[in-house]
Amino acid sequence: SLEPLASDFYGYESMLTDQEKTALAAIRTYLENEVKPVVNGHWEKATFPHEIVKGLADLDVYRFGWDETKPFDNSAVFRGFVALELGRIDASVATHVGVQNGLAMGAISVTGSDEQRAEWLPRMAAGEIVGAFGLTEPTSGSDSAQGLKTTATRDGDEWVLNGEKRWIGHATFSDITVIWAKDTADNQVKGFIVPTDTAGYRATKIENKQSLRIVQNADITLTDVRIPESLRLQNANSFRDTAKVLRLTRAEVAWAAVGNSIGAYEAALRYTKERVQFGKPIASHQLIQDLLVKSIGNITASLGMVVRVSQMLDQGIQRDEHSALAKAYATARMRETVAWCREALGGNGIVLDYDVARHFADAEALYSYEGTREMNTLIVGRALTGFAAFV
Ligand code: FAD
Repeated sequence: SLEPLASDFYGYESMLTDQEKTALAAIRTYLENEVKPVVNGHWEKATFPHEIVKGLADLDVYRFGWDETKPFDNSAVFRGFVALELGRIDASVATHVGVQNGLAMGAISVTGSDEQRAEWLPRMAAGEIVGAFGLTEPTSGSDSAQGLKTTATRDGDEWVLNGEKRWIGHATFSDITVIWAKDTADNQVKGFIVPTDTAGYRATKIENKQSLRIVQNADITLTDVRIPESLRLQNANSFRDTAKVLRLTRAEVAWAAVGNSIGAYEAALRYTKERVQFGKPIASHQLIQDLLVKSIGNITASLGMVVRVSQMLDQGIQRDEHSALAKAYATARMRETVAWCREALGGNGIVLDYDVARHFADAEALYSYEGTREMNTLIVGRALTGFAAFV
């Protein structure tokens, strides 16, 4: 059964069904017993723990949201709590699930045909096929709605892809990468399922990252990569369709950010109750309590927001600006929170072994990927004012 999480201060988890609580408890147990003990080591070496793919697949974590044969009705609120749980243990592992389940499976589910869903999703849910999502390019990040340079040119029953991608998570070991490219005939963004053993596809790991070191990000080059029409995502006709995927995944990043904050807060609470200075635990000093209370305040406010955004998705009323506000707000509050938690540990706050340092460093990537704070702010600003201030 699910032990209430003390850091879920207002008890939002109590809104889950008994079945969801049982599933979440199993995920929590797996993450605490099998994943938490290995993440600092992998973070230091910048390696990915491949064995967790089977472990997470066995718990159905990749399947949530996308498969008609799902074992129970998993709501967006439940999926959010899963993302929180992943982020609480490790933001890289949360990102891994976000790439597989959210971006790669999401792209196929939202913009693929029935046949494409049936062909790819079950094997991806089982962890047999690892996917990646290639949108960002060396010269196009925030402006990828208009700035993509990768091209797709139709040639009979095939498409020829040329271009470069940057930052693509999983791409050093993915079996397929969804590549977004501009159709040279109509200049619209289309999506392609690219098997990574296709001639002309090359991925190179980005080294020396100081955030989310467990996530394997890559630069990709596509040189005359030939893809059959059957691997073009049949319902991706413009960037608006790509954005439908991002709207869903942004809300999950906001949930993972709450989880990353909770991971840092729990480590700080534990440490400050044990560490003695001036003859008593530092948790009994007023200014340390202030850091902890400000942290739980940020966590609780952000959690209330992401719960509501996911409820809106479940009700079919969530719009781009709703998930954009949650992503911008929760990641900004996370950045404050992990800094306060690091501060509460003094010098040990910068040492990997004390757990806070990893959450602190990982916050930076969550803050910037899937739309920076500025881009998500401008999405909300456009909705509020009617003026698009991007350019
Ligand atoms: P830029 O777009 O160059 O932005 C730099 C700064 O300028 C930012 O602060 C930005 O907010 C600001 N800025 C830009 N335009 C404006 C404006 N109009 N007004 C105000 N400020 C502006 N991409 C994928 O496709 N797939 C992945 O799997 C993936 N994984 C990632 C994993 C990690 C760890 C990271 C760091 C990135 C990943 N990305 C991925 C890319 C990510 O989405 C981009 O980094 C992000 O969109 C920002 O783009 P950029 O880094 O090119 O920054």
